[in-house]
Amino acid sequence: MTVGLVYHPVYLEHDTGHHPERASRLVEIKAALEREGLWPRLHHLSPCPATEAELLNVHSPEHIRWVEGHAQQGGGWVDMDTMLSTGSYRAALFAAGGAIVAAEAVLKGDVSQALALVRPPGHHATHDQAMGFCLFNNVAVAAHALLAGGTARRIFIFDFDAHHGNGTEAAFYADPRVFFFSVHQHPLYPGTGHADHMGDGEGRGTTINVPLPPECGDEELRQVCGLMAQAARRFRPDIMLVSAGYDGHWLDGISQLQLSVSGYAQMAETIKGVAAEVCEGKAVFLLEGGYHAAALAASVVATCRVLVGEEWVDPLGPPMPCIPPDISSLLHGLRHIHGLGEGG
Ligand SMILES: [Zn+2]
Repeated sequence: MTVGLVYHPVYLEHDTGHHPERASRLVEIKAALEREGLWPRLHHLSPCPATEAELLNVHSPEHIRWVEGHAQQGGGWVDMDTMLSTGSYRAALFAAGGAIVAAEAVLKGDVSQALALVRPPGHHATHDQAMGFCLFNNVAVAAHALLAGGTARRIFIFDFDAHHGNGTEAAFYADPRVFFFSVHQHPLYPGTGHADHMGDGEGRGTTINVPLPPECGDEELRQVCGLMAQAARRFRPDIMLVSAGYDGHWLDGISQLQLSVSGYAQMAETIKGVAAEVCEGKAVFLLEGGYHAAALAASVVATCRVLVGEEWVDPLGPPMPCIPPDISSLLHGLRHIHGLGEGG
C-alpha cells in the first residue's frame, strides 16, 4: 500500500517573513522530496479547511474569531514568538484540516501511513491561546475528529518535537481515550512537561512526559523510544498520531539536543514497527518544528524513506562527540510511576 502525503500551497500563505518558522521550510522539504524521486510516488491527499465544529472540539469560539480577525486586519506579532499575516487564518484552517484528512485516510486504510507537511504548526496552541508559532492545534483537532466520527476509540499521540507539546497535553490531560507521550528538552520553551505530570481524573496515567537534559542524542532517544513502545503496546490504540518536529537536530540552533538524521530515521522505524504491532501499521506524521533548512529536509526525506520501506542515508552525519547525560534514573523513575517493567 502507498504512503499518503498532505501538502498544499495555501500553507505558504502564512507569511512570517524571516521568522524561523517560515514558508521556505516547506519549499525546501518539497524540493528535497522531488529531488529524491519520492514526491511522485506518494499518494497525494487533498486537504480541506477544518470546519468550525471540528475546531470547537479543541478551541474556544473566541479564540477562533480572534485568529480570523487578527489575520483579516493584516496580522502582526501576537507575542514574542508568534506572528500572523493576512493569509494565516486560511492556512491554519487547512493545516488542521490537512491533519484530519491524513488521519482519516490512514484509519480507513486508503494509505498505509501518511505524512502531513502542514504549517503553521500546532502543538503549543491551547484552548484559547495562540503561542509558540502555533495557531490551531492540528494534532488535537485531528484526534478529536477521529473520536467524534467514531472511527477511532483510542489514539496514541507521540510528540518528539524538541519542545513540549503543552497544548496537546492540556487538550487530553483528563481524557482516557487519548494517550499523550512527549519527549522534549528541558529546560526549554514553554517550560512545561515535567515527568510527574501524568494526567488527571480518568486520564491519569495516559500522559507520559520525558524531559531530556540538553546534549541528549540518538542513543538517549533510542532508549526513550523503548519506553514509548512499551506504553503504546499496553494502551493498544487504533492509530498513532505523531507530532513530528525536527528541531532537535544537532544543526538546529533552537534546541541543544544532539539528534541526527540517522536518529530520526531510526525513530521512524521504531514508530512504524510499533504501529505494525498494535494498530495494523496505522501512523500519521504531522509536521511541527524544525528550523535548520538542510537538517529539516534531510530528516523528512529519511522519515519518508522509512515509511515507503527503503534504505535511507544521513547526508549530514553525527554531531561532534560529547559526553551525553545519563538518563537511566529518569527512565527508571518513569517506568516506576507508570507501572511499566524494565527493558523492552
Ligand atoms: Zn519545537
